[in-house]
Amino acid sequence: MKNIIPHEHLIKTKDRSKIKGHKPAILWFTGLSGSGKSTVASYLEKKLNEKKIHTYILDGDNVRSGLNSDLDFTQTSREENIRRISEVSKLFYDSGLINLVCFISPYIKDREKARELIPDDGFIEIFVDCPLEECENRDVKGLYKKARDGEIKHFTGIDAPYESPENPEITINTKENTVEECTDRIISYLKEKQIIPE
Ligand code: ADP
Repeated sequence: MKNIIPHEHLIKTKDRSKIKGHKPAILWFTGLSGSGKSTVASYLEKKLNEKKIHTYILDGDNVRSGLNSDLDFTQTSREENIRRISEVSKLFYDSGLINLVCFISPYIKDREKARELIPDDGFIEIFVDCPLEECENRDVKGLYKKARDGEIKHFTGIDAPYESPENPEITINTKENTVEECTDRIISYLKEKQIIPE
């Protein structure tokens, strides 16, 4: 951008990471509303915190009530929602944290753009796989009922699409597996890739 020249700071991502004892990463949870993104991320963050891993969660409703409160659920706004979140998650990555990002993020294209911002295989896409029927039965926030009744428009899975990841780093199935099992699977992956220590 014209006349914008980023300052080269003395301390880089790797320096911040070194004093934390683990690598930074983006754990990008994608899946239908009610699939279990927030539940698994929250439990995982607790487990990581116990291991003295530095984390932060970016969560749909929290960001939508603040930074992105000007956006609705049309496709254009959803793109902008994910674009801003992607940029924010990049900042968390640069800061050396493991950033757990929980958004439906229904479009492959938007998730791929988020991935492109993050270097060194630091972007880990986690597909929170749960059948629509099960999410609708759970109806944690009563939103599926409202969407079926026509009170909410552009609701993912009902009258807006969800594009499943084609090649996610991790898939967890929250209908078949418990929260603990899903969390263990992610922790094993982080150890295997040497993002966190054994
Ligand atoms: P999302 O963040 O994807 O919208 P939530 O985490 O808010 O979904 O809600 C998921 C709901 O499913 C919670 O009420 C949770 O208790 C329930 N649930 C049942 N089994 C699981 C599981 N294995 N993993 C995650 N959530 C589960």
